[in-house]
Amino acid sequence: MSRVIGILSGKGGVGKTTLVANLGAALTNDFKKNVIVVDSNIKTSHLGLHLGLYEDLPVTLKEVLNKKSSVNYATYIHPQTGIRLLPAPLNSKDVNFDQERFQNVINQLKRNYNIILVDIAPGLGRETIISSSIIDEGIIVTTPDLPAVTDALKTIDLLKRLRKDIAGIVVNRKKNEKYELTIEEITSNAECDLLAVIPEDKKIPESIAKGIPLVLMDKNSSASSAIKTLAGKLVNESYEPTGFVYSIKKLFGLEDNLNYQVSKKTFKKESNLEEKEDVEKLKEEVLREIKDELKYAVKKKLREKMEKR
Ligand code: ADP
Ligand code: MG
Repeated sequence: MSRVIGILSGKGGVGKTTLVANLGAALTNDFKKNVIVVDSNIKTSHLGLHLGLYEDLPVTLKEVLNKKSSVNYATYIHPQTGIRLLPAPLNSKDVNFDQERFQNVINQLKRNYNIILVDIAPGLGRETIISSSIIDEGIIVTTPDLPAVTDALKTIDLLKRLRKDIAGIVVNRKKNEKYELTIEEITSNAECDLLAVIPEDKKIPESIAKGIPLVLMDKNSSASSAIKTLAGKLVNESYEPTGFVYSIKKLFGLEDNLNYQVSKKTFKKESNLEEKEDVEKLKEEVLREIKDELKYAVKKKLREKMEKR
């Protein structure tokens, strides 16, 4: 059985693509899993760039969606890590991205891969809703600030409405500054489990520039350890960091707690409607409701919380 895991966020720029590239690398290299990373962020596709694929590729997800190529011709192997990648085109013009076609691509990938990680566009637009409709479970990424968390709540709401499992939330770029929202504030508002806390790491921009995921470039950094621990959790295997700093910290009982609890919340399908009809209905409903009512309710809830501090 293959698992299709979507990496999502409400706000852009919080670290989704970085997480997809690094989780893909960790699952492929450290856990020897049969994984492919897929870029479904058609309008602003960056996953190929994170993995050093700079040229405009002749065959991408676009050609597969447009039925000009089979999925095998659009799959690339990252030389340093062996990650399999299905990139999106750098130019989104003329891409026939609809749910049936994308589901078809994912079904083909399921024949060859056990884990399919999908880098999904941020926000609540058409691309996001289509991609969210084809995943089995979602991981929500946020940074520890009010705008990102506010928008993460909307993404969580979208997944709930689509009756998707939510594996949990990943808090990225934590600097331990006083002004940041605390982990407790984030999880209690999000009402889902905390999967990982990834610290701010200056080497991440360098790793992107080099096209080599951090988990390979700086294997024992705190951020790499957090990502590998998360990768282990996703496949029910443990990961024990090995770096010098971690060993010293462990000796003195100062190691970071990377093992946050994971317990999956399952949202059962309520109706027997054909999935496609169901999604069409939900699209309208979600967009209408989220746009007006939820936006204000969520902000109010967080503001109240901030005022109490
Ligand atoms: P998204 O895919 O959500 O838009 P990206 O993965 O492209 O976000 O990350 C946005 C920027 O944040 C990148 O330039 C990257 O260098 C930086 N970044 C992401 N995670 C971290 C981190 N843990 N520490 C430092 N910089 C980070
Ligand atoms: Mg991205």
